[in-house]
Amino acid sequence: MKILVINCGSSSIKYKLFDLDNNQNNIIAKGLIERIGEPKALARDHSQGIKILISDILNKGGVKDLNEISVIGHRVVHGGETFLKPQLINAEVIRKIRKYAQLAPLHNPVNLAGIIGCRRFFSRIPQVAIFDTAFHQSIPEEAYMYALPKRYYKKYKLRKYGFHGTSHQFIARQASKLLGKPLNKLKLITCHLGNGCSITAIDKGKSIDTSMGFTPLEGLMMGTRCGDIDVAAVFYIMKNEGLSLLEMDNVLNRKSGLLGISGISNDFRVIRKFRKSGNLSANLAWKMFVYRIKKYIGAYYFILGGVDAVCFTGGIGENSPGIVNAIKQVLVKISGKETKVLVIPTDEELMIAKLTYKVVKKKLK
Ligand code: ADP
Repeated sequence: MKILVINCGSSSIKYKLFDLDNNQNNIIAKGLIERIGEPKALARDHSQGIKILISDILNKGGVKDLNEISVIGHRVVHGGETFLKPQLINAEVIRKIRKYAQLAPLHNPVNLAGIIGCRRFFSRIPQVAIFDTAFHQSIPEEAYMYALPKRYYKKYKLRKYGFHGTSHQFIARQASKLLGKPLNKLKLITCHLGNGCSITAIDKGKSIDTSMGFTPLEGLMMGTRCGDIDVAAVFYIMKNEGLSLLEMDNVLNRKSGLLGISGISNDFRVIRKFRKSGNLSANLAWKMFVYRIKKYIGAYYFILGGVDAVCFTGGIGENSPGIVNAIKQVLVKISGKETKVLVIPTDEELMIAKLTYKVVKKKLK
């Protein structure tokens, strides 16, 4: 069965075409349409981007006829409290994705643009939405509520949602295979360390807490995001620097994290290089980054009541033995050799393809 996975970003569309027949996870074509909406770009908008994606698939020989594609899976960032599972897309699902654009203004509108573009050009092919937030909908209320007046939750659905759900879910499944134990017998901590970073506590295959929150700003220190901070510090900066809401948002999301502390780069490879050559700011950025990871792992170890494995993934997680070893050393001290440390490459697109397949398999057989 041929499954097309589409991930629409604000100015790009990534796609992978899988053939999931015979238990093989073959990629038969993949591509990236960039600079959507920029002057002189080939794609004026996402709908045109989908048209280019179609020619790209045909040119690369992924399929000879578009009708060979059985189903399309779309990554959608926010599914609010409604979508606990992947959804076959219909008018009602589209209406809700549009509604949750309030909670993810940078992501849901472009995810939707891809869905609408596909409905235009692949009108006979079913489409499925896979939500980044869905995996975390199992988090209990004592973990997802903020200690604010409750009316903000009632009025605005203001709460922790968590992100990177598809990646954490994929890593948990891989860990279960590697450990040779079913997911429902495992306690796991999964660390997705990329440009954005988040850690999830997974009990019996279910997310019970995660470090990102109402938005992807909460939690760990990231490339350009500050992660956890005393909110009063935000008021203090705004007052003393005369910053608007938008300007402050820019500081917290784009000027902080590894970049803000090092003053050099948000790229972990660059931080590592400067640290090795003795740069003190890069060294502080590295130490803060690792300290936060330890702090969350410690908290989740306690919440889970012990852990079978701590797993690392993402561009940083998959390529930083220094971080992995630092965590290993602490784990050995507290649990002996009982807790495994695993480095597992993530594959969000493959997970989306598998989840998409599950939604339509009965119908298409
Ligand atoms: P995204 O979250 O956008 O999917 P990635 O998972 O690709 O991002 O991670 C990007 C981060 O991974 C960057 O900070 C980059 O510096 C880091 N990274 C990529 N390759 C390496 C490497 N070989 N060693 C250390 N860090 C790396």
